[in-house]
Amino acid sequence: RMAIARKHQPSVISPGAKLPLGLQRKPLRVVVTGGAGFVGSHLVDKLMARGDSVIVVDNFFTGRKENVMHHFGNPRFELIRHDVVEPLLLEVDQIYHLACPASPVHYKFNPVKTIISLSCPCAHSSLITNVVGTLNMLGLAKRIGARFLLTSTSEVYGDPLQHPQKEEYWGNVNPIGVRSCYDEGKRTAETLTMDYHRGADVQVRIARIFNTYGPRMCIDDGRVVSNFVAQALRKEPMTVYGDGKQTRSFQYVSDLVDGLMRLMEGEHIGPFNLGNPGEFTMLELAEVVKEVIDPLAKIEFRENTADDPHKRKPDISKAKELLGWEPKVSLKEGLPRMVEDFRGRIFGDRKEKSA
Ligand code: NAD
Ligand code: UDP
Ligand code: UDP
Repeated sequence: RMAIARKHQPSVISPGAKLPLGLQRKPLRVVVTGGAGFVGSHLVDKLMARGDSVIVVDNFFTGRKENVMHHFGNPRFELIRHDVVEPLLLEVDQIYHLACPASPVHYKFNPVKTIISLSCPCAHSSLITNVVGTLNMLGLAKRIGARFLLTSTSEVYGDPLQHPQKEEYWGNVNPIGVRSCYDEGKRTAETLTMDYHRGADVQVRIARIFNTYGPRMCIDDGRVVSNFVAQALRKEPMTVYGDGKQTRSFQYVSDLVDGLMRLMEGEHIGPFNLGNPGEFTMLELAEVVKEVIDPLAKIEFRENTADDPHKRKPDISKAKELLGWEPKVSLKEGLPRMVEDFRGRIFGDRKEKSA
């Protein structure tokens, strides 16, 4: 396998040329699917800063060119408009596979493509993308001997009966519910990833990402942090679903990107939980948003959605021990950085902030 991997090592740098700043080795060619999205674009920034060559593959379903356009004109950067449910031919060393309709608003909008009908008239479901898209990227990794990293999710644990969640827990997912196109799509993507590892010797890595927030999040994709921040800024009431006592653990995006890169570069397959163990009820989150944006912000209760997990908190001891990773940015530190970016986008100041 090493021989194959080496065969595909790029020779981006001519002999005698200096290595880019901060790089101790030959630069790699890296694909980031979903690289024009929220998490992907921050990952791309870090890979570019490290001196590697980056190819972003994105169909712009929820991603935006604005998230990566500061790299346009850099010869190490390339952006391809492509849907990962279609086959893709490239020669690279590493594949970060993030492409997926990831927020409830989007995957409920088209559940089938989150999981499986190629004849589906709408090109944006989470099931199809997770199954066919992941299959294609694994096929690509197999053909070229690249290392493949899957961004899975804490949603594989469903409405967990174990708390906090450890990687060994198999989860409690409703297979026929409104969220299952996403949950089951990611579970199948994990299965495919391990099958390609065992059956075709592909080098794989699996990250199970817990709720993440930060600059460049989609403003209207319905996730709780982006909803509360946008609502408070617009002087609208913050919509709390259910009684607001359900919990989530919120991770700042730079911590996640650091974890993903350590996982890719390290020797362990995973799965690894990547999340911030700080656990908040939605009412507590609303209080933090009030402190940061507007102490007079109001709360409005709404009916909760079906199958909403009651609590979620990662056990990150495995990532701490094997990747030497743990999050550094608390919610109180991270939230103001996101608010600054949202304020700019909502009120028309186009200046983009990085994490
Ligand atoms: P995002 O919506 O900002 O990014 C997803 C990107 O994938 C977008 O740029 C979108 O245009 C692209 N995409 C979607 N379908 C595609 C397709 N068929 N072909 C090509 N590109 C496609 O979401 P994000 O929060 O950045 O999520 C990135 C990854 O992390 C996803 O796989 C998501 O499931 C996972 N994840 C995120 C969180 C979180 O809290 N942000 C939590 C758990 C897992
Ligand atoms: N694939 C791809 N790019 C490649 C190689 C494969 O998109 O460079 C896709 C291919 O179209 C197929 C999937 O990956 O749908 C799985 O490929 P694999 O070779 O594992 O399976 P096979 O094609 O033999 O069924
Ligand atoms: N939620 C909420 N108000 C909103 C959006 C979401 O109270 O405006 C709740 C939602 O019911 C869930 C939690 O916030 O309990 C997290 O929702 P999100 O969609 O952000 O993430 P996920 O459910 O995928 O963890």
